[in-house]
Amino acid sequence: MPSAPEPARPHGALYPYLRPRLSLGDPLRLVLLGATGSIGLQTLDLVKRNPGRLQLAAVSCRSRVDELAAALAELEAAQPDAPRVLIAVTDANAREQAARIPGWRDRLLSGGEAGLIEAVTQSESPSCLVNALVGAAGLAPTLAGAARGLRIALANKESLVVGGELVARAVAAGGAEVLPVDSEHAAIAQCLSGRDPREVARLVVTASGGPFRTTPAPELATVTLEQVLAHPTWRMGPKITVDSATLMNKGLEVIEAHYLFGLPYDRIDVAVHPGSIVHSLVEFVDGALLAQLGTPDMRMPLQYAIAGEIHWPLATGRLDLLRMGPLVFEAPDLDRFPCLRLAREAGLAGGTAPVILNAANEIAVAALLAGRLRYVDVPGVIADTLARLPRGPVEDLPAALDADARARTEAAVQVDARAAAGH
Ligand code: NDP
Ligand code: MG
Repeated sequence: MPSAPEPARPHGALYPYLRPRLSLGDPLRLVLLGATGSIGLQTLDLVKRNPGRLQLAAVSCRSRVDELAAALAELEAAQPDAPRVLIAVTDANAREQAARIPGWRDRLLSGGEAGLIEAVTQSESPSCLVNALVGAAGLAPTLAGAARGLRIALANKESLVVGGELVARAVAAGGAEVLPVDSEHAAIAQCLSGRDPREVARLVVTASGGPFRTTPAPELATVTLEQVLAHPTWRMGPKITVDSATLMNKGLEVIEAHYLFGLPYDRIDVAVHPGSIVHSLVEFVDGALLAQLGTPDMRMPLQYAIAGEIHWPLATGRLDLLRMGPLVFEAPDLDRFPCLRLAREAGLAGGTAPVILNAANEIAVAALLAGRLRYVDVPGVIADTLARLPRGPVEDLPAALDADARARTEAAVQVDARAAAGH
């Protein structure tokens, strides 16, 4: 009888396959980085909905201080006995504004990235870091959370794209755990719950296909920013919405899945599933397929990760099986969406390749959002940046940040060249 295949990286996987369930005890204290974003605000909503179970230990924003102040005031009024919440504001001007808010000055942490790290390291007995930052800026705080041995509810997939190996090492050294917030990875985690990695044949990450799933290639050259941002099924922050339109988001998620679940790239497939009902699937070695289904609402995977993989009650819209219609799956079109191929290749190459891919993508997305780059030029900026820069290993955080900075400079040159050409 053939034996089950050995897991590719049973010790490298961030996801704690066979883990004991935690029982409900004292309230979980959250360090919430990126509190004013799409995931951040949904986390605050969960704190509001779970007064006995969830508390804030620290929060951060970049510049939207007014939004943070309003949200925090409401929560603190509702939980007057909860310990003091530390506050990090990374933008220098916004931090000055924050220092003038009554009751904030003596709990305001340093500006810049230092404040994010302080939120993780100086908060009082935190149980969980919710990393809802966007971009490579999330990596250092993830590493700090790992070093403190926290549960990390990870929305910031860029942490793993840029520093997957570093996070794996830090998690092992710090005794931390990483639980995915991304809906696809949370779905896979639910399918894997209680399984041994040797039972797993492959992962199938689903993709909505974005707003241009059926758009013919020639028409992609003239799509507007408004069309790019009109995601068919999810309401999210601007960067991931653009990434969903280019399918770069799915490429980043393939790399994220590789580090989380410890499977090689040839056992991580992508299937386009326009309804966003099946959030992802796991195929086992006997051919059995498990899927997780639900409405497209990030609070479900977010709460599941924060709770430590326990299904707490959540009053949201339920999926109506009798009305949801047929489940359709398609192969992704790598010719119309080259970002997915670029990401897979960079992931396979490893080292600084995914760092460069991610940085070039962040620059291209920012230029697109600023109206300086066409949608159709995003893959070219990334491919040319990858082609022009040398590759190397990522031994530590400075190596990752150095490759990130060089790639940003080169990608900006690539964007300028296209802007100057009148595109
Ligand atoms: P948003 O852009 O909505 O929010 C980002 C948050 O991070 C804001 O609080 C913002 O502050 C802060 N921030 C942005 N840049 C920096 C920086 N350089 N330094 C410090 N803080 C910063 O993002 P989303 O919530 O959409 O996404 C967050 C992460 O979650 C991303 O990695 C995304 O891929 C992932 N994700 C998101 C999903 C979603 O539904 N939104 C679904 C699955 C994954 P400010 O508001 O002050 O600018
Ligand atoms: Mg996702």
